[in-house]
Amino acid sequence: MTFDDLPLAAALKDSLRARKLVQPTPVQRDAIPPALQAKDVLACAQTGSGKTAAFVLPILQRLIEDPGAAPERAMRNLVLVPTRELAVQVAEVFGQLGASEGIMVQCVYGGVSQRRQVHGLSAGPEVVVATPGRLLDLMAQRHVDLSQVECLVLDEVDRMLDMGFVRDVRKIVAALPTKRQNLAFSATLSPGVEDILARFMVNPVRVMTDRVSTTASEVDHRICWVRSSQKLDLLQHLLQLHADSNGEIKTLVFTATKHGADRLAKKLNALNIGATAIHGNKSQNARERALNQFRKDSGGTLVATDVAARGLDVKGIDLVINYDLPKEGDSYVHRVGRTARAGATGRAYSFVSEGDDTLLRGIERFIRQQIPVVNDHPFPCGQLEAAMPRQAPRQPRSRQAGPSRGPSSEGQPRRNTRNFSRRKQSSGRTATAASSTRSASANGTQSEAPRSTTRSFSLSGWWRR
Ligand code: AMP
Repeated sequence: MTFDDLPLAAALKDSLRARKLVQPTPVQRDAIPPALQAKDVLACAQTGSGKTAAFVLPILQRLIEDPGAAPERAMRNLVLVPTRELAVQVAEVFGQLGASEGIMVQCVYGGVSQRRQVHGLSAGPEVVVATPGRLLDLMAQRHVDLSQVECLVLDEVDRMLDMGFVRDVRKIVAALPTKRQNLAFSATLSPGVEDILARFMVNPVRVMTDRVSTTASEVDHRICWVRSSQKLDLLQHLLQLHADSNGEIKTLVFTATKHGADRLAKKLNALNIGATAIHGNKSQNARERALNQFRKDSGGTLVATDVAARGLDVKGIDLVINYDLPKEGDSYVHRVGRTARAGATGRAYSFVSEGDDTLLRGIERFIRQQIPVVNDHPFPCGQLEAAMPRQAPRQPRSRQAGPSRGPSSEGQPRRNTRNFSRRKQSSGRTATAASSTRSASANGTQSEAPRSTTRSFSLSGWWRR
């Protein structure tokens, strides 16, 4: 199937072709047709699988087909996202795919002056991409007219409906017209979120192209047992090990705290490893500058808190390092999903230290998978490992676990993501880990071929429309 087989306007097909996007990804193939029919859609697909275009294209299509449904230029589509960076990125995808159609897209997010956003909103953009807090501020000041909204998108929906955001999202939804389309997308979903969704979506078509809450199939992810005092040494070792022949490697390192991110970036710079930190305490301009530089450079290290965990699409990240384990399983899936996007391969290491056993257990339970261990790195800590005997997490009944993964190793330095997969197959050492991963795939636990189930279920109204 190609995009030509979808009922999209010629202008959209042209801009897809211009971007060398020929075949819809599974989530696009399955979510776009019902979304074009104005149905509610709940879609869950792995990180980096093209979810953004899966909602951007139907929205653009409707705007092209029906440019004048509203009395005048008005906000007809609202996309809610959890972070400012993601708002900018999603708006860019609208801009890229709808460039020729003169469709106005406005970003609304905090951390910057509201003046330009207010000015932008007064022009009646057809699409607004917003984080909830700033949108509510502007609603309170009557700068936002939601009365013409035809379509609401919740990107990273499980995050949008978790404790941090759900109250804001409820207030926004309450201000929308009851007759509208709802589209919800994420790589992770929890039953609690599905419950809430069930109360405000209407008979949504469920598009589940991958098992819910799995790490992207092409991420080779491992854990390293290491003492806290040796994490920096191990990080430095991994950066050297995987750097290309020019000594470059594009790495995203996650820490638990903002302070930890700053401290680590400083330590790396002292070691002559160029690193920048981004987190919630940095000014929005500094965050954008750091991210743009990271996007541009072919190598470099960005040290981040979870502000960079979700949705960000930066080409060519070779390595993700969980310097500190995330507190939640969904963060793990999203963090490691910053690599291996759009069919590329990538690698993620998680450092497990003193006191991390509960976190690791929680993550493995969430992804229903035991993460392979790197046991031949230069800073091993057998005592830590011995202190936490691991059991294979329970697998869903229909998709039983593959054989337990044998010990793995770090593999060899690589040039880029494409070489990486080849090397995995050719290197004796990595072959152990690679083959164990593949055997898991064969048993349907990790990287099964995208399966798609599309069905409807009926809902009742706690969040009345
Ligand atoms: P997303 O999951 O929306 O962040 O997209 C991840 C990456 O996949 C982005 O770099 C997109 O440009 C790319 N992408 C989206 N759709 C396609 C497609 N149909 N074919 C190839 N790449 C795609």
